[in-house]
Amino acid sequence: MFDYHTHTQFNDGANTVDEMIEAAISLNMTEIGISDHFGHYPTDDSNSFCIFISMEDYFKDLNRAKEKYKDKIKVKATLELDTYLETVREMTSLINSFHPDYILGGIHQFNGIGYRDQSTFSEICEYDYEVYLEELIKIVKTGTLDIVAHYFDYKSYYDFKDESMFYDLYKELVQAMEDNNCIPEMNTSCFNTSFLGVTFKEDPNLFFWKECAKRDIPVIITSDSHDVPFFLTSAYKNYFRAKDILQRAGVKYTATFTDRKMTIEEIKY
Ligand SMILES: [Zn+2]
Ligand SMILES: [Zn+2]
Repeated sequence: MFDYHTHTQFNDGANTVDEMIEAAISLNMTEIGISDHFGHYPTDDSNSFCIFISMEDYFKDLNRAKEKYKDKIKVKATLELDTYLETVREMTSLINSFHPDYILGGIHQFNGIGYRDQSTFSEICEYDYEVYLEELIKIVKTGTLDIVAHYFDYKSYYDFKDESMFYDLYKELVQAMEDNNCIPEMNTSCFNTSFLGVTFKEDPNLFFWKECAKRDIPVIITSDSHDVPFFLTSAYKNYFRAKDILQRAGVKYTATFTDRKMTIEEIKY
């Protein structure tokens, strides 16, 4: 069991790097990836969703933690990139200069909807999700990401009557991942949680995960934990729930990363 998507006090998390790592050790995890937010809104720098310290200091601290805990757990260092098609190449090459173990990226703000104005989530419709998926496919096709963060984020806020209208886009997204050596995460932070009065939906039909299974694309399970209590309780339970979903979808592989090199492993069910 490992988790490649966790946050700390360096941005919007509640705990320190060491506290998150120690929680992972207590859960008997083999690896933990610290992935604080990094992103610049292309037209408005003040709107950036970023670590509070310099990239140098951030990676320096993660390298310190790698060394400190090396006998107990593998600590992986990265940032969660807030992706925009206009800047994804520039931002990933900047992150790359600090030798991350992998690059995790996903859309957090698009088409006027997103985390910068959370009230907009209630206005999501099929059209928004469609253009969001089209944008995500273009981002994956830049070949700059190793892991796509929460592809289903927008979907989680909206109860689509007929999700099959997006199947062609899902296929295209999975194809783009396969072509660009990029894998998806199953982000479990949305399971059973409520945000702004909206209860997130678990993937009901597994279409996307079955497409990954058909192509033998590895999937990683992540918690997106922002604090230790969530990590130790919900995230732990959700891990097994996610594993069950992947098993039902027929997903056979997961993967670990070191220095942006992927190692594929069979999932033990
Ligand atoms: Zn995110
Ligand atoms: Zn996150």
